[in-house]
Amino acid sequence: MGNTDFQVTFWGVRGSIPVPGPDTLKYGGNTSCVQVQIGKRLIIFDAGSGIYALGRELVKMGSESNGDIFITHTHWDHIQGFPFFAPAFIKGNSFRLYGQSKIDSTFADLMHGQMVYQHFPVSLDQMGAKFEFHELDSGIDIDLGDGVSLKTTNNNHPGGGLSYRLDYAGRSCCYITDTEHCPKVDQNLCKFISDANLVIYDTHFTDEEYPRYMGWGHSTWQEGIKLIETAGAHRLVLFHHANFRSDREMEVIEQQARTRNNNCVAAREGMVINL
Ligand SMILES: [Zn+2]
Ligand SMILES: [Zn+2]
Repeated sequence: MGNTDFQVTFWGVRGSIPVPGPDTLKYGGNTSCVQVQIGKRLIIFDAGSGIYALGRELVKMGSESNGDIFITHTHWDHIQGFPFFAPAFIKGNSFRLYGQSKIDSTFADLMHGQMVYQHFPVSLDQMGAKFEFHELDSGIDIDLGDGVSLKTTNNNHPGGGLSYRLDYAGRSCCYITDTEHCPKVDQNLCKFISDANLVIYDTHFTDEEYPRYMGWGHSTWQEGIKLIETAGAHRLVLFHHANFRSDREMEVIEQQARTRNNNCVAAREGMVINL
């Protein structure tokens, strides 16, 4: 049990494409979206299809929304829910969006790009809320205010991407998805997550599957365990589950992971962790 002033809620835990249906009811079929509530501060990691349900919940609560949205990278499974994020359509709400530029596009261009008229009837600027765009790079350490600090590091992923670490009141949560491990545990990443209470990590594949998917930019649950054990981080959340993985297969993986290290849990939609 932890304090409720630093709370992590999983709204989308799947990789690549949403996979609704009877085989994914337990762990969930929506793509990446994690809410971190630190006191009154709303922080969101990624805007995959899971952000749709988060948006509905925020509207239902009726509070004015004002939050920070951190995007790891702009592959579809990390942004495709944004056009359906209801609080973004409400005047008076305001969001700061953070992410990386890519090739010749600014981060703002990339977020606007999926909502051009050819793809979507409403442009990002017509949504209603106020948006501020902030470009981030790796190696950044910024003060978000209210005692919350944020660090970034690079992902090993086609086209790149960022991982995030939040620190607040001596506790910390890392969000590391869409990254492929190196043959030897990455010392830089170990430093990044050292002492973290919670590490949400890309475990799209298993070690057995990995040789067939080398270079796809994803890691395995076995590598996740190796990483937290080497770095001295406390708890691992398996995340970005493969789109082809059924609940039954996820149960087996979660059981195997917990047998190897009891401080592991597989992310599922609706799961809440207090740090
Ligand atoms: Zn992804
Ligand atoms: Zn990706």
